[in-house]
Amino acid sequence: MTERDFAINVVSTLQHAGFAALFAGGCVRDELLGLTPADHDIATSATPDDVKKLFRRCHSFGASFGVVEVLGPRDAAGEWLKVQVATFRSDGTYSDGRRPDSVTFSSPEEDAARRDFTINGLFLDPIANRVYDFVGGQADLRAKVLRAIGDPAARFTEDKLRVLRAVRMAARFELAVDPATQAAATAMAGEIKAVSAERIAEELRKILTNPHRVRGLNLLTEFGLFPHVLPEVADIPQRLRVVAALTGTPDFPLVFAVLLGSVTPKVAGNVCRRLRLSNEELERIAWLVANRVALVAAPTIRNSALFPILVHPGIGELLALHEAEAVAAGDELIAVEFCVNLLRTRSPDQLNPKPLMTGDDLQTLGLSPGPLFKKLLDAVRIAQLDGEVLNQSEAVARVRRLQHELEARS
Ligand code: ATP
Ligand code: MG
Repeated sequence: MTERDFAINVVSTLQHAGFAALFAGGCVRDELLGLTPADHDIATSATPDDVKKLFRRCHSFGASFGVVEVLGPRDAAGEWLKVQVATFRSDGTYSDGRRPDSVTFSSPEEDAARRDFTINGLFLDPIANRVYDFVGGQADLRAKVLRAIGDPAARFTEDKLRVLRAVRMAARFELAVDPATQAAATAMAGEIKAVSAERIAEELRKILTNPHRVRGLNLLTEFGLFPHVLPEVADIPQRLRVVAALTGTPDFPLVFAVLLGSVTPKVAGNVCRRLRLSNEELERIAWLVANRVALVAAPTIRNSALFPILVHPGIGELLALHEAEAVAAGDELIAVEFCVNLLRTRSPDQLNPKPLMTGDDLQTLGLSPGPLFKKLLDAVRIAQLDGEVLNQSEAVARVRRLQHELEARS
């Protein structure tokens, strides 16, 4: 059973119990566009208590918003099927620019009116195969227009995240933005600060990993959002050219690092922390930023400088970054090709050989951990990668020599 089949079962159960029940929002838009929805949301006249009585396996989700998650059987991949069932509602006032102070259960018309854009305000009865369009969403989908439902300025004032959602939706579905909607979004750009870092980051992830990311970034620029979301990005037109040169399906850290361009790793870290990105994302982004130009001289730098980068798990992304930078600058891909060739022709063991000298070895030689200790280990490792120290006895000899040199100096 697919999620759609399960969602139809849920609609059918609700309808047989005498309630109105419809597919709502994004999934209707996606189906009308011939796309497969990421998830199916159901809107219904049943209250959360009614829903909970009808379905054995379910739990309140956003209790105060009237959302119940109904669980189904497992799908072919072994994942539990689930759909969110939300009671038709209208939202009360928004005093914090983020979420309504209260919600009232209401009609499908009012439920459509609280949604953000006309293309997201559609309902579909999947059993009668009938669309309910109270907001002109079908016409806008056909005309490829993104239009706020109702008064755009009021809608963006209620929830400032909608400004970023507008960028994401217009880019992803290649829509023109209705002028009144665009004017209201632009006027609201500076207010995006009211939105939590997590929600901003989630929109950025979706914008930057979409194939239409360049259009999304152009809209961020047009809406005047860059200074408020990513003030650190300098020379935006150049950054966009490099983003445009990325091929394949680049992941979020790669696109984000490309966008940050020549900021320092410290600034990159600060941006990531401000947006509350995950540690994994932060580490990868900071590493890419730190090594942004590290491979440009790959054919001429020492193995000890090059190999540790080549064996890093982010090397694929770093090569993609270098390639995009080179393509955008009209440079040749010599350095990237040199690295790709090394990765193809050298074994992992050649690029990242077992250390000839470890901390334990040093202790056996009578040294105790301390500042000198680390220096010696690093120096022997560099000599090993550069082919100056070929075996353990040479490594020991190197340690003894360095030890004397360093001790003589101090
Ligand atoms: P996606 O495919 O990315 O999930 P979506 O349109 O389904 O896109 P969701 O965040 O899943 O987006 O929201 C589902 C629906 O809820 C939207 O289609 C829209 O009708 C409504 N909605 C979501 N967020 C908002 C918001 N901030 N303001 C108003 N309506 C919203
Ligand atoms: Mg959705």
